[in-house]
Amino acid sequence: MKLIVAKFGGTSVETIDRIKSVASRIKNEVNNGYNVIVVVSAMAGETNRLIKLVESLTNDYRTSEYDTVISSGEQVTSGLLAIALNDINIKAKSYQAWQIPITTDDNFSKANIENISKDKVNFELDNEYVIVVPGFQGTYKNRITTLGRGGSDTSAVAIAAAFKAGRCDIYTDVDGVYTADPRVVSNALKLKTITFEEMLELASQGAKVLQTRSVALAMNYNIKLQVLSSFEDKPGTFIIGERQKNMEKTIISGITYTSNEAKITLFNVNDKPGQAAMIFGALADKGINVDMIVQTSTKDGEATDITFTVLQSDLLNAADIIVKLKPEIGYNKMIEDSKVSKVSVVGSGMRTKPGIAKIMFKTLADNNINIQVISTSEIKISVLISSDYTELAVRTLHDEFQLSN
Ligand code: ADP
Ligand code: ASP
Ligand code: MG
Repeated sequence: MKLIVAKFGGTSVETIDRIKSVASRIKNEVNNGYNVIVVVSAMAGETNRLIKLVESLTNDYRTSEYDTVISSGEQVTSGLLAIALNDINIKAKSYQAWQIPITTDDNFSKANIENISKDKVNFELDNEYVIVVPGFQGTYKNRITTLGRGGSDTSAVAIAAAFKAGRCDIYTDVDGVYTADPRVVSNALKLKTITFEEMLELASQGAKVLQTRSVALAMNYNIKLQVLSSFEDKPGTFIIGERQKNMEKTIISGITYTSNEAKITLFNVNDKPGQAAMIFGALADKGINVDMIVQTSTKDGEATDITFTVLQSDLLNAADIIVKLKPEIGYNKMIEDSKVSKVSVVGSGMRTKPGIAKIMFKTLADNNINIQVISTSEIKISVLISSDYTELAVRTLHDEFQLSN
């Protein structure tokens, strides 16, 4: 029998009524002759509530107890959905990640999946059970781990890869992938298809409709992946390997933004070999990821100013590390700024069509938006701007690149 994996996000399982409607969708798939593994998120808002509970006791999120608490929302929805399915005469069983098991490394709160055992689940599927798996969860040496925010997408794709599913359907609260977040740009256009590499850039630059790691996994295993609405019956967006012919004309696929980064500038750093290696090496040693970096020379050429961005959640730690290194780095002032956003234009057509950066920078200038840092890849241009102008930048760029047409 053909197998599909269907994942339902937080808003899709927010209430008992919605869980019942998920159950009837699954019933349709079963009646169409499919074996189904369902992956569920916690009810909308639940993971945030659980995180706050932990934070009222500790800020240490790298422990298994943190994951024990924040993974529990998914346990609840997996049980509820299995009950709702049995209620409408669909045989279903929930299996927690540790019961399957889905094993991960020991990176608590952002663990990586290492292996998914198949025997138990295959046995149940052979007996025509629908299997409901909580997303976001894993296990390391009998402890519970979680896969990072939005991690249920990655659970679903990893399960689809392990069980060689014919399709992986990601049901969510929008009906597909758009040229920009439809909650910010009201005339954003739904894409019928988008390539894995474009989706990877969009996701990693802030389009949270799919967790970045889920896209990378789907690309590696060539999973037939689609994003679609759990509320309406209409076609969604397929994430595909190759650009289709009619996509060739499209230069830009989407505009996205993230507001969770912060900027650090070090003024008058001694300009000598090894400085950047020291600064960024020290940050990397403490697990702090640096995203954008720019270095400018001062007039006399003796010193340089270095600006870089880190996640806001890493800002305090990063600043602490830099202050401790001050004697060696030799800077004379450090400024931290959390009021920044990164706006990105993504499209694989950029490879062949020059001039996208020019249009982007001119549009921002015409709207009096100052660019603080720029970074590029083959198919993406990102700029760091003041967060006061995030929505204006996204909307005007969306218009300028005529993405609604
Ligand atoms: P779920 O709880 O189902 O996992 P998420 O909230 O994680 O859903 O992701 C869906 C949200 O992603 C949408 O509600 C939308 O606001 C946001 N989003 C951001 N960028 C895009 C985009 N380019 N296309 C579609 N949705 C986007
Ligand atoms: N519930 C988790 C979160 O809110 C995982 C997910 O929904 O994908 O991040
Ligand atoms: Mg999500």
